[in-house]
Amino acid sequence: MKILVINTGSSSIKYQLFEMPERKVLAKGLVERIGHDDSQVTHQYRQEGELEKHTRTMPVKDHREGLQIVSTLLTSPELGVIHDPSEVDAVGHRVVHGGEHFSATTLIGDEVLETIRRLIPLAPLHNPANLRGIEVAMEIFSSAKQVAVFDTAFHQTIPEEAFRYAIPGSFYREHGVRVYGFHGTSHLYVAKRAAEFLGKDVEDVNLITLHLGNGASVTAVKNGQSVDTSMGFSPLPGLMMGTRCGDIDPSIIFYMNRALGMGMDEIDDLLNKKSGLLGVGGNNDLRDILKRAEGGDKNARLALGMYTYRIKKYIGAYVAVLNRVDALVFTAGVGENSPLIRRMACEGLEHMGIRVNEERNRRAIGVMTEIQAAESHVRILVIPTDEELEIALQTGRIVARASREKVEK
Ligand code: ADP
Repeated sequence: MKILVINTGSSSIKYQLFEMPERKVLAKGLVERIGHDDSQVTHQYRQEGELEKHTRTMPVKDHREGLQIVSTLLTSPELGVIHDPSEVDAVGHRVVHGGEHFSATTLIGDEVLETIRRLIPLAPLHNPANLRGIEVAMEIFSSAKQVAVFDTAFHQTIPEEAFRYAIPGSFYREHGVRVYGFHGTSHLYVAKRAAEFLGKDVEDVNLITLHLGNGASVTAVKNGQSVDTSMGFSPLPGLMMGTRCGDIDPSIIFYMNRALGMGMDEIDDLLNKKSGLLGVGGNNDLRDILKRAEGGDKNARLALGMYTYRIKKYIGAYVAVLNRVDALVFTAGVGENSPLIRRMACEGLEHMGIRVNEERNRRAIGVMTEIQAAESHVRILVIPTDEELEIALQTGRIVARASREKVEK
């Protein structure tokens, strides 16, 4: 079965074509800067076992044109891996916000489209682009089943005492103000891989999964289910991120607005795009911060200290939430690649049974492995995430179930 995974952002389309169940990537790529004259198209396609790379710069007017280019590349005699769009059996779409409506992956029909549209006020930056991606894919890959995989779905098991905010209940009941959580596909994927690594069923493991990428979040996983997570109503709270502030006192917003005369859009932009590592340390890419910190730059050092202190605080909090923790799981760009961040985040947690082995930690870069010291009670794992593969797996499962049900009827 050929499954195309599509992740549509406001000005980008990421795609990956899988042969399932072999989990083989036939092609993948990215269309960036959609809406500009110098859009970038990067396409990788499998040829004799290897992925070959093709890049070009060209104007791409909108998402429709972007996806049309993807389809042309996938079917091109030179750069393609299929002959016709109809060879794609299913398209799995990453959808950021599923609200309380979707606690699982779902086949897309008119009703589902309408619900994703209704949820736009909750995810004004993401859901419109996701919706556009689905609509265009339905036209271009018209014979394929379309499936939505929600970033929020994994967190729908969080209990009410953890997902509610301490504000009047009507805001929850009438306006949906609650913790939703994000990065669910990644937290779920690494939780399943961690269970395999530990030789247990996922229903039997308690984990603290740390997705540290540009965006960053921590999830407490109890018996394989999310029971708390650091992002909330939006992806803004929790850890310090590349450009997002993470947890702050909400009064700061009133102060910026009333005393400093800043408009709401300006504050929104500041907290989402100019804060975090960038705001404190001067770069949003952790590699740049690490380089400057090494050279003695004070702001970069402070940013590093704040970044890891916040991770440590969440680990401590989630040890309290879970009581028994089988493993910490580090994943995403920073979690998979930075021994220093992992060491700093775990420093001082020895009394909780968390201790890193320096040598193992240093060697663990971009591979699945464990890095705890022999005397550590908690295993400490590094597990590369693969959100696209998880979307393909879930899409395959839903499509197979749908065709089984059709046969039974
Ligand atoms: P996204 O959230 O965009 O998917 P990624 O998971 O790719 O992000 O993570 C991007 C982050 O990972 C960047 O801040 C980058 O600096 C960081 N990163 C990547 N490689 C390394 C490395 N070797 N050391 C430290 N940080 C790294």
